[in-house]
Amino acid sequence: MSRIIITIDGWSSCGKSTLAKQLAKELGYTYIDSGAMYRAITLYFLRNHIDWTEDKEVITALENILLEFKANHKNGQSEMYLNGENVEYVIRDLVVAEKVSDVAAIKVVRDFAVAQQQLMGEKKGIVMDGRDIGTVVFPAAALKIFMTADNAVRVERRFKELYEKNPNITIEEVKANLEMRDYIDSHREVSPLRKAADAIELDNTHLTMKEQLELAMQWAQQKL
Ligand code: C5P
Repeated sequence: MSRIIITIDGWSSCGKSTLAKQLAKELGYTYIDSGAMYRAITLYFLRNHIDWTEDKEVITALENILLEFKANHKNGQSEMYLNGENVEYVIRDLVVAEKVSDVAAIKVVRDFAVAQQQLMGEKKGIVMDGRDIGTVVFPAAALKIFMTADNAVRVERRFKELYEKNPNITIEEVKANLEMRDYIDSHREVSPLRKAADAIELDNTHLTMKEQLELAMQWAQQKL
């Protein structure tokens, strides 16, 4: 069977990665979490006190960043490595989430990440989720999905996820972070979050995980 590229874009905490992982598993494809790359770059900038308003500093910092996805054989998931360190857990922290949209708005940062993402798609057979995957990274992808869900549902989902790690977190903090990221991501100059003209919209507010997978699999089968 031919192999295609599937892109999943959308607002923060819509369940993009859940659907992308489900689809990749079902099709035997590789799942790539492009947001993890921006999060890892942000972590590096924070740890190394990089002033990201200074282009020169950013360019030098990027020269020292190696991003890799490696499979975790225990849970079958691919995890983000920054300069050889597994950062999959720490990049999900609110400290990183507070800054990631500012870092992801910088052109040289995006050029750095997008070039690597495009290489990962050379052999097709991937599902990549993010904000600009269907519009910029793979504009010719065979199947593009744009996900949405009600705000309250998104906040609740992300709160549950973060609360498990940090019981001090409040729902207000999570809500403010989602709203801020969505605003910056959709208003930035470079590659703003947009629904590609040929993307299929999927609102999963009232869908179970099984139902959303069934829908997406039907679309994938049509393209295959
Ligand atoms: O998908 P996730 O929520 O982990 O992404 C974190 C942040 O990374 C987003 O809020 C956005 O600022 C940035 N991002 C991006 N382009 C992508 C993926 C993520 O700008 N393709």
